[in-house]
Parts: sequence; structure tokens; C-alpha cells
Amino acid sequence: MTDFNSLADAYGTPLYVYDFDAMREQYEKLKEAFRGRKSLLAYAVKANSNLSVVGHFARLGAGADCVSIGEVRRAMMAGVPKYKVIFSGVGKRDDEIREAIERDILYINVESEAEMGRVELIAAELERTARISIRVNPNIDPKTHPYISTGLHDNKFGVDIDTAKRMYIRANASEALDPVGIHFHIGSQLTELDPIREASEIVADLVRSLHAAVGIELKFFDVGGGLGVRYDDETTIEPYDYAQAILSTLTGMDITVVCEPGRFLTANAGYFLTRVLYEKRNGSKRFVVVDGAMNDLLRPSLYKAYHYISAAKPHAGTPTPADVVGPVCESGDFLAKDYPLPPMEHGDLLIVHSAGAYGFGMGSNYNTRGRSAEVAVEKGEARLIRMRETFEDLIAAEQACLD
Ligand SMILES: *Cc1c(COP(=O)(O)O)cnc(C)c1O
Repeated sequence: MTDFNSLADAYGTPLYVYDFDAMREQYEKLKEAFRGRKSLLAYAVKANSNLSVVGHFARLGAGADCVSIGEVRRAMMAGVPKYKVIFSGVGKRDDEIREAIERDILYINVESEAEMGRVELIAAELERTARISIRVNPNIDPKTHPYISTGLHDNKFGVDIDTAKRMYIRANASEALDPVGIHFHIGSQLTELDPIREASEIVADLVRSLHAAVGIELKFFDVGGGLGVRYDDETTIEPYDYAQAILSTLTGMDITVVCEPGRFLTANAGYFLTRVLYEKRNGSKRFVVVDGAMNDLLRPSLYKAYHYISAAKPHAGTPTPADVVGPVCESGDFLAKDYPLPPMEHGDLLIVHSAGAYGFGMGSNYNTRGRSAEVAVEKGEARLIRMRETFEDLIAAEQACLD
């Protein structure tokens, strides 16, 4: 898409580069798949929370799915209107709930009976009515990595169907609560349709029975995110088929579909650029040591995730397997294992692909490493959207506490 060498020269490495045109295409593809039905794509801010990225989606008409009040503030600062902001997450503090109600966002996704009690209490104190949606755990195996599976009773997320029913009846009777939606999110990196259809069916049946038995009319059917992308050779779901699987369970219902894609919108639009420092061997094992590390891109260490890696300039020599490792003092600090690479030299640029989701956002300052800069490329123009962190940035909060 672009000249990675000149971006690395201009902004330094390690560096995140995002293709804003590719992000727009993904957004439009998914939005188009839901046409013919009222829909809201609420971008899952945690996937890539840079203000410019969130603002990019906001300008396309997206809402925002947020999992902390910080993300709610980010989304609104980036230009997402309050009536498109959703607040999800299994453990919201009182002050976060209070601010969400005061900011009058679209709805709060409630994840337990106890939490609904807090929301009700706080709304009553504020003399407000809180719009809520209840996260149902449909007990469906999403057939993805256990760390990113969320729709089984073994997982901490949501409530079972019977509890949900009881909660809707209680919410409906409360002055302080307005149950407007229902929510489920069975996992991330979904590559099979059946679990989505099954979950959607179970939740749609609940919506019907709430209407028939208790007269509750929900406005929003929130299917969560999770649409998978290709990192390696995965077969993925087409947006059209995904939408159809959901819409087929909603026939005859007048309800707005809310979808919370994160990875689908940003993963393959992002690149992580890192330079080779050294080659080394320990016995027969080959290592390529680079300036990027697990504190920049955690997914390989955390999930053993695969990322395609390419060299920015053509290399002579036969590729042989190498571990691509960073400078962080952990054996788990690697970007790739046994990855076929030609002989590398000091300063060579490597491009780690599919790094636009859960990349920068999962970064840390471990080993007192400043986080990378981030650059957006749109219509051939590059612009800096986050400065590289300096040593002074890293210690500012500590220095403020020194005498
Ligand atoms: C993480 C998350 C998402 C986004 O998941 P992706 O796999 O990135 O699409 C959406 N909704 C909720 C509630 C989440 O926790």
C-alpha cells in the first residue's frame, strides 16, 4: 500500500502504520451487508483506540462500543455522538456508571444482576432513567481460542437465559431503568457461522418471549463483535453471510441490529514496522533480534498468535527458520517462532502484518520502553497520529510524587 522504508526513515522504528482507506473499505463492506434493516456498527474501541482511528470511523457513521469510561470519553472526544455510544464490560465502577448515565449514552450493557442493582440505584440518585441492555450468555462454543471465547457458562461474561428473563421483568418495573436492548458476544476471531446463528436464534427467541409473555419491546439486538480475519490461512466468514445468519433469526421482528466489530475493521489495515538489530545463533537455533518487542505487540506472546512477516527490501539468500525476538527480558518475548527468513543485516526493515487490532492498545512500558509512534496513511498521505513516547513521558507520574 505504501513505501514502508520511507515511513520508517521519517518516523523511526518500532512503528505502527494504519491504512485508513482499508479501514473504510471494511466498514463499508459490513455496513452494506446489513442494508435493508436498521443497523448500527458500534466500533469496538479497545481493538485500536487511537483518537484518529475512532474519529475516522465516527466520520463514516459508526458508533462506539466501550469497555471503560476512559473509552467512552475517547469515543465522544473523537466525535462519536452520545446516542451511538455503548458501555459494556463485566466490572463497571460506580463512578463509571454515574458518568455514563450523566453523559446520556445509548445504553449500558449490564452483565449481572448485582450490576443492574448498582445502575438502578445510581440512576435513582441522579433522578434519571438509565437505558440498559442485558448481556446474555447463550452457552455456545464459538470454536475459537479459549482466551478469546466469551459465550460459555465457564466464562465470566453475561448472565444465563433464565436470569436474563428475571432481570428484564425487574428492569421493566423499575422507574430508574429502561430496558431497550439485548446483547451477546460469544467470542473473538470467529471463523464459523453456526455458533453465531445458534446464539442469535437463542437470543431472538428470548426477545420474542419477553414480548409475548411480559410485553417488553426491545429496540436493539446487539450481536457483539467477533468477526474473524485472515492472519494466516484461516477461512473467514463473508460479511454478507454473517449478516444473513443473524437476520435470518429476526424475521418478523422490528428491531435495530447493533454490531460491535473491532478486529474486522482494523486488524489487516495495520502494520508493525521493526528493524533488525542482530542475528545470532545458540547452537543450531537461529535468532533475529529486532527493536520491536512484546511490549509493542503482545499477541504472539499472549496467544501464540501468528503474524505474517515480510522484509521491506528483497533479500538474496535462502530463507531458513528463525525466531524473531525483541530486547525484552522474557523468554516469551517473540514476534514469530521458526519463521523462514533470508539472512538479515543490521538495519533491515521487517513488516509485521495484521497488526492493526489488539496491537498498540495492548502495549505497555515494560522494561521502561516507550511505546511506538503511530502513523495513518490515507489517500497516499501519511500523518503522525501518536508521538513516540519519551523517557520523560514514562516517568512523569512518578516524578510528580518525588519531594
Ligand atoms: C472485544 C469485544 C468486541 C470486539 O471484538 P472483535 O473480535 O475485535 O470484533 C465487541 N464487543 C464486546 C462486548 C467485546 O468485549
